[in-house]
Amino acid sequence: MQTIIARSLDSLKKNLNKVKKSKKIGLIPTMGSLHDGHLALIKKSKKLKFFTVVTIFVNPLQFNNKNDFKKYPLQEKKDIDIIKKNNVDLVFIPKKQQIYPHGFSTYLKEINHSNILCGQFRTNHFSGVLTVVFKLFVLIQPYSAFFGEKDFQQLFLIKKMVKDLHLEVKIISVPTVRDSNGLALSSRNKLLDDKYLKIASSIYKIFKNSKFKNYKNTKSLITYLKKRLINSGIVDIEYIEIRKSKNLEKAIILNNREKLRVFIAAYLKGVRLIDNYKIN
Ligand code: AMP
Repeated sequence: MQTIIARSLDSLKKNLNKVKKSKKIGLIPTMGSLHDGHLALIKKSKKLKFFTVVTIFVNPLQFNNKNDFKKYPLQEKKDIDIIKKNNVDLVFIPKKQQIYPHGFSTYLKEINHSNILCGQFRTNHFSGVLTVVFKLFVLIQPYSAFFGEKDFQQLFLIKKMVKDLHLEVKIISVPTVRDSNGLALSSRNKLLDDKYLKIASSIYKIFKNSKFKNYKNTKSLITYLKKRLINSGIVDIEYIEIRKSKNLEKAIILNNREKLRVFIAAYLKGVRLIDNYKIN
């Protein structure tokens, strides 16, 4: 079947009305510049035989930095080719005015886990994410929506929103897809040249080769990790923290009683990289 390209709310609605009764919808929200990480989400939805809807929308609400928004990589034509090649059923590419019409002033905000990790440094970022994802849920009414573990705090907050607001959609997560050097795939990686991509991949290499069991507390582990990262050229570290996977609480002691993850955000050549890694 041919991929339907919907660029307006009307076209989206008309096309979804035709399939809603007979098929379950799988939604993959993206900001475009598609890579194999996005494809893993698409493939999972296709495998589950869902009518697969990909959205491409660089959501201005979730950018706290104008320059980051301006230089966010766009490649619509290439994305549409990728989408067609992967038999996506419908791609929705709205304009800003359709999502946020003139006078728009209603936002979603989570108040307990949105000001830590990325949220601490990106004011209102997660409010922007939740607002747009909620809108897409309302417009598309998916049975399932797919999100990557690469953005673990985002995944956590979307699951929380679904629970807190009694939404019907089932959230399915997909492990982080990495390149051959271990670097987590990200649209922003397109802004780095080979030299910096190699430096960026040391984040994963350091995590993978660390003997987490040798450390009793998170403070000494973080000191060690920071030192190794800086020696590898990752000098501009925004945060590196160890938190519990189930509630994102900060971990002090390292033991096997609770599942922990190390979370990092760092800048390389002005490009913001994030990653997270399960440590037990
Ligand atoms: P983005 O286009 O960056 O907003 O990402 C759209 C979706 O793809 C989000 O659910 C991301 O978590 C997911 N995603 C991005 N990069 C990866 C990756 N390397 N592996 C798995 N999922 C990813």
